[in-house]
Amino acid sequence: MDASKLKITDIRTADIDGLPKHMILLKIYTNAGIIGYGEVRDASSGTYAKMLKHRLVGENPLNVEKLFNRIRQFGGHSRQGGGVSGIEIALWDIVGKFYGIPVYQLLGGQYRDRVRVYCDTDVDGKHTGRDMGRALKKRMEAGFTYLKMDLGIELLYDEPGALNAPLGMLEEMQKYSMKAICHQSGSIDKSLMFGKNYEIFTIPHHATGIHITEHGLDVLEQYVREVREEIGYDVPLAIDHFGHVAIEDAIRFARRLEKYNIAWMEDLAPWQMTEHLAKFARNSCVPLCTGEDIYLAENFEPVLQAGVNVVHPDLLTIGGFGEMKKLGGLCEKYGVAIALHMAESPIGFMAAVHMAAALKDVLAVEFHSVDHPEWYDLVKPAIRIEDGFMAVPDTPGLGIESLNEDLIAQFRKADCDEPWADTSAWDNEWANDRTWS
Ligand SMILES: [Mg+2]
Repeated sequence: MDASKLKITDIRTADIDGLPKHMILLKIYTNAGIIGYGEVRDASSGTYAKMLKHRLVGENPLNVEKLFNRIRQFGGHSRQGGGVSGIEIALWDIVGKFYGIPVYQLLGGQYRDRVRVYCDTDVDGKHTGRDMGRALKKRMEAGFTYLKMDLGIELLYDEPGALNAPLGMLEEMQKYSMKAICHQSGSIDKSLMFGKNYEIFTIPHHATGIHITEHGLDVLEQYVREVREEIGYDVPLAIDHFGHVAIEDAIRFARRLEKYNIAWMEDLAPWQMTEHLAKFARNSCVPLCTGEDIYLAENFEPVLQAGVNVVHPDLLTIGGFGEMKKLGGLCEKYGVAIALHMAESPIGFMAAVHMAAALKDVLAVEFHSVDHPEWYDLVKPAIRIEDGFMAVPDTPGLGIESLNEDLIAQFRKADCDEPWADTSAWDNEWANDRTWS
């Protein structure tokens, strides 16, 4: 088909759950039979993509930047960026498939032909640094060369004299949404997002009033020492989900950690609180990381200026490939490394792999599904991570020939529409989008 005749004909989504997170797969259909694969950010809503359908159907999908600029205003931070970002990725997949070129090539070519993958690791329930160290050791035995663990103040809830807070606060945290606030593994339970749970869930770090005592710091430091004793000092070790405490307490803990060579500590304050990030950066030698919830490259600049050492953008929040390329330029300017956040399906993963191939200063791509064998088979060809690396495919687009519809049906999210349900209800969704008069 003549490139000028190509048109978008439909947009549909499929919600799956259990591998381990709620993932929203996206298809953009065209009049040439080419289907572009994309994905809305984990734990988001397909609505963010489907509401844009009327603005895209009938348009030529090869004009990626033009279409992105049309829908850009409908993205927002965190999960709200998911619709715009997922569509941008699917459009690039169509471009690659139409011209027979892999996406990394469309993005400027390769800095690397295989991408380092790091996997997030947590141990549920009451456990010690030895338990975590052994879990991480298993990752190393499976070939992974870069590690991250969850380590949070929830370990101290049952430890007398380890935390203090306005009396009653710690009990409320545990009763209502301790798991949601401290430890987000698997899907976030919708029932935690109402009433008192929501109220507790949305208290920012600096407003919980929780402080860690010297005894609490002793316990946490011992945990990290035990982890290092198990895994040694050769492999990078990052820390996430420390918990919602004021930045001063995070600094006190970070000072204890300097001798354990931590690769980075992640999201120690809401990313918007750039003065808090700057205070941490000035007062600790542990690298600071944030960014998985930031929409658009331009919103990273205040964070980079605050002294963050590693950014952790999610392709499915930032706005897709185009915004990530812009962020790459900013990171070179400020001397900041990039680790790609990725908690999604093999579509989001392959998008991140192409992106990491085409970005200069990349440390690794995140991976959450190592313990879920079905995840690898959600696409054809199946994902094969070898020795902790993913080879960058040379096949057109994202390198995904088809989706495994049997597995998508098997892992369908129960409280959502059936996979790839008709979206004609969105055909008339319209507004005057011009942002000036
Ligand atoms: Mg994180």
